[in-house]
Amino acid sequence: MTSPPNHPISYLDHAATTPIDPAVLQAMLPYLSKQYGNPSSIYQLGRAARQAIEDSRESIASSIGCRPTEVVFTGSGTEADNLAIKGMAWARSERGKHIITSSIEHHAVLHACQSLKKRGFEVTYLPVDQYGMVDVASVHAAIRRDTILISVMHANNEIGTLQPIEEIGAIAREHDVPFHTDAVQTFGQIPTKVNDMGCSLMSLSAHKIYGPKGVGALYVRRGCRLSPLLDGGGQEKNRRSGTENVAGIVGFGTAATLACERMNANEAQRILLLRTKLAQGLEANIPDLRLNGHPEKRLPNNLNYSVRFLEGEAMLLGLDLRGICASSGSACTSGSLEPSHVLAATRVSREWARGTVRFSLGKDNTEADIASVVEVFPPIISELRSLQTRGRKRDDREIVAW
Ligand SMILES: *Cc1c(COP(=O)(O)O)cnc(C)c1O
Repeated sequence: MTSPPNHPISYLDHAATTPIDPAVLQAMLPYLSKQYGNPSSIYQLGRAARQAIEDSRESIASSIGCRPTEVVFTGSGTEADNLAIKGMAWARSERGKHIITSSIEHHAVLHACQSLKKRGFEVTYLPVDQYGMVDVASVHAAIRRDTILISVMHANNEIGTLQPIEEIGAIAREHDVPFHTDAVQTFGQIPTKVNDMGCSLMSLSAHKIYGPKGVGALYVRRGCRLSPLLDGGGQEKNRRSGTENVAGIVGFGTAATLACERMNANEAQRILLLRTKLAQGLEANIPDLRLNGHPEKRLPNNLNYSVRFLEGEAMLLGLDLRGICASSGSACTSGSLEPSHVLAATRVSREWARGTVRFSLGKDNTEADIASVVEVFPPIISELRSLQTRGRKRDDREIVAW
């Protein structure tokens, strides 16, 4: 390994989390020290904290094109998803108990739906094609009289596939059904204007855009009523009780503003060029490699590959030894022996699905990071394959580890 000291790693796992931007940290620091007021207090110290929260709310609102009053701060992207799904389900259960979602959602959405299912709701899981794309006609066909919510993510966190959100939003509006989208992976990377997307609810998370962990937001369109998950002091206009995470919210607002500046400076194009180099380098040097997800309609920073007959974990450990952070797809499922629900839904066969590696690029990645992956990954794979072949000679049984 020839990485320079103090920067020993090539970090290519931005879909799992991102490093805090130094400017974000600077903006947060006063609210972790001298500006400790409770934003609900009426004296100056409290009012300063309130003002900081409202400034952040405006930054988030302007980056998604909504009114500040339509932004509810939460404790995570997961909480935003839960508030959207359960909050709408409980508020609308008199009208109906049917929810439509896709089979490749983040677990925050899928498990919230499962929990509602145990409480008498019905859930339709839309299938996806081989690229992980929802068929718009299937949304139309799934809508019933008692459908109270449609939830389809903007981009998938594992395979990066972008959904036809505008079209789904139009169908939802036509049938007067509220539409939620989990935009945690796209926010700050590609445009996510709520009116273009036609959604009534949208989930965001700070730590995927160089903000702090433990803060998220839910956009709730004016007039859209939901039941709170938490009861208490009535903060966030009764939609999310609990003293606000002032420093976290300030960090989130700053991170959103910086992300918009990067978008305007065409950062996505720079990332796309790096990704193309990485893809070309790997595809030219690794046999039995396949790209998961859609070849074009995908997040600009995402590459998800399967290597046939190999184990994702073994490849990731090999990369880690050489200072490269990547992931097997979802941070939440790594360590589990089941192939991811996303790859299963795209009907990738087991011989491919187990050997999955996701590279997700970010703002600090350079040509050097890409060169380093292209240099070290192909030999890791050859080494694993030769171990496998030797194992087979020694022992005639199939030794592929599953
Ligand atoms: C990371 C992620 C979440 C969860 O956000 P947290 O803030 O980590 O709880 C939800 N949905 C998607 C698509 C994500 O990538």
